Amino acid sequence: ERLVSGRAETAERDAEAALRPKGLQDFIGQPQVREQLSLVLDAAKARNRAPDHVLLSGPPGLGKTTLAMIIAHEMQTSLRVTSGPAVQHAGDLAAILSSLEEGEVLFIDEIHRMARAAEEMLYVAMEDFRVDVIVGKGPGATAIPLDLPQFTMVGATTRSGLLPAPLRDRFGFTGLLDFYSSNDLLTVLKRSAHMLGIEAELAGLKEISTRSRGTPRVANRLLRRVRDWAQVRGTGIIDEAAALSALKVYEVDELGLDRLDRSVLQVLCKRFGGGPVGLGTIAVSVGEEADTVETVSEPYLVREGLISRTPRGRVATSAAWKHLGMQIPANYEF
Ligand code: ADP
Repeated sequence: ERLVSGRAETAERDAEAALRPKGLQDFIGQPQVREQLSLVLDAAKARNRAPDHVLLSGPPGLGKTTLAMIIAHEMQTSLRVTSGPAVQHAGDLAAILSSLEEGEVLFIDEIHRMARAAEEMLYVAMEDFRVDVIVGKGPGATAIPLDLPQFTMVGATTRSGLLPAPLRDRFGFTGLLDFYSSNDLLTVLKRSAHMLGIEAELAGLKEISTRSRGTPRVANRLLRRVRDWAQVRGTGIIDEAAALSALKVYEVDELGLDRLDRSVLQVLCKRFGGGPVGLGTIAVSVGEEADTVETVSEPYLVREGLISRTPRGRVATSAAWKHLGMQIPANYEF
């Protein structure tokens, strides 16, 4: 498992669930999204109907699932959870839709990976609260319309660009989640340390906050790893020394880059003279799926100004060469 990868592995779900903020007021950072969402929810409460459909977009670990749960919590209703890859046939979706109850929230994670056939069914369900159940096969097949209760669809995606326009248009509100500031992550860490009963000094938490790739999931994960170190090798308290030593053991550098991030930079600079290189080539060279490189590693490297995208491919910036401690080639143009 990648320590700073955005995705949560099964064993970690319980640890994550324990730290999830329940209400919108506990959700740290992302002031715009929080304010916009709070308006959507308050308006729905005032009108006494289900809120508009919500699309949440952004890199893994920034709080999309958490917000879906918060929406259900704030509307005092239940949340039904599925994901794009789990919906491979229109029938899978029809079964979920037809079992929804009035006012429920349906969360589809990685909605961009849903089967095409199911997408069309989803358009109709979101717009007209109706699903056409196909009975029979071939020329004799008939569509029986089935009315659905009012529900709120919450879709999450790391790749909003991959969503077909007709699907995107059916969401009344789109929340764009951006990487968190170190300050906001420090607040996340203080809250988590308090909830987990971990004794921590400010300097220790600060060190973790600046190396968490702007991602609450990573911050919470590093907090647990540093706690391990403090308990086994240190004084039991998370202080600066414990944070620095543990982060070294886990190969998280000063910018929060992990091994995959650094491999991407190294491939770019060492093998391809800084680029431009296509994403597929980079992915093959580092032995990862292109999707992981594109949704997990790249957004952070771009945000830190270490790589940039050009029409001809990815290029390393001069900051990347510096970060690797390498000499920038003469006449380097990026
Ligand atoms: P995503 O669905 O975008 O991959 P999650 O909603 O699963 O991310 O969030 C990952 C973890 O990070 C959760 O366990 C949650 O506790 C924590 N988290 C995310 N956003 C926040 C936030 N704004 N405030 C506090 N904790 C957060």
